[in-house]
Amino acid sequence: MIFASDALMVAILRPAVGFINNGTATCPVPEVRLLSNALVLLMVLSFGVSAVFAQDQKEIEISRAESGFTGKSLAEINLALARMRPEPVSQSDRVILTSSLPFLTDRNRVEDTRQLALLYARIEKTLRFCQRYGVVDLILFRHPEPIVYSRAGVVLAISTEVLKIIGNDDAALAGIVAHELAHEYVALQMLSAIRSGNLSGIRELELFCDAVAVVVLLDLGLDPANYSRALKRIARHSKAATVLNDGSSTHPAIELRLQVISDISNIFKSQTPVARLRKLPR
Ligand SMILES: [Zn+2]
Repeated sequence: MIFASDALMVAILRPAVGFINNGTATCPVPEVRLLSNALVLLMVLSFGVSAVFAQDQKEIEISRAESGFTGKSLAEINLALARMRPEPVSQSDRVILTSSLPFLTDRNRVEDTRQLALLYARIEKTLRFCQRYGVVDLILFRHPEPIVYSRAGVVLAISTEVLKIIGNDDAALAGIVAHELAHEYVALQMLSAIRSGNLSGIRELELFCDAVAVVVLLDLGLDPANYSRALKRIARHSKAATVLNDGSSTHPAIELRLQVISDISNIFKSQTPVARLRKLPR
C-alpha cells in the first residue's frame, strides 16, 4: 500500500528518471557539462584565491608577530618584556591551574629527583633570565611524542621524547623553555584568541613567543639556529607532529616559525658580539 505522500514522492522522482532513459534533446547534457565545467573552473579559481589568501594571512601573522621587535635595541626589548611580565601567580591560583594537566597521568610522570634536578640545572639560566627561577615548576613525563606545554607562569611540562630529540643541545632546550615562558606575556590575548576560535590570532601569538625566545637566546649568548634545528626535528618527528605543524590549526607552519627565528636573529645579531655566540653540539 502506498500512502498519498509516498505517491507524491514517487511522482516527483519519476520525471528525472524519464529524462535519463529518454536520451532525447530534452536531456540537458550540454548544459550539465557546461555547468560542471564552470564548477570545476570556480573550484580552481577559489583554490587559487584561498592559496593567495593563505599566503597573505601567513605574511600578516609574521609581520604582526615581528612588529614590536623592529627599530629597537635588545636592551629596549628586554625592558618592554619586563614590563609585560605579570606578578607571579598566587598559591591558590597555582593549585587551580595545575589541578588537571594534559598528557600527564599517575604512571607517566618522571619522579626521579636526580634526573629532574639535572634538567632544572640545564634550564636554570633561562629561568633566571626570565625571572622565573623557583617560580615555574618543571614536569617531565614519559610520552612517545615530542610534547611541550605550559601553564603560563606556573608550570612547564616536557615529554621525554623532546629530550631524546634534542640530546645535549642546551641552546635548543633554552629556546624551547624561553618560548614557553614567553606565553606569560601574552596569556590574556591567547585566552581571548582561543575563546573566539581565532586560529590566525593564536598562530600569531605563537610566532611572537618564538621571537621572544630568540631574544632570550641572544641575551644568553646562545645561537638561535640550535633552536631552529630542534624545532625542525620535532615538527618532522611523526605523522602527528607533521600534521600539528602544518599551519592549518593552532600551530604556525614550521616554515613560518623558522622564518621568524631567522628574521629576529638577523635584527639583533648585529647588536650581539659574535664572540658571545657559542656553538653547541648538534
Ligand atoms: Zn607556544
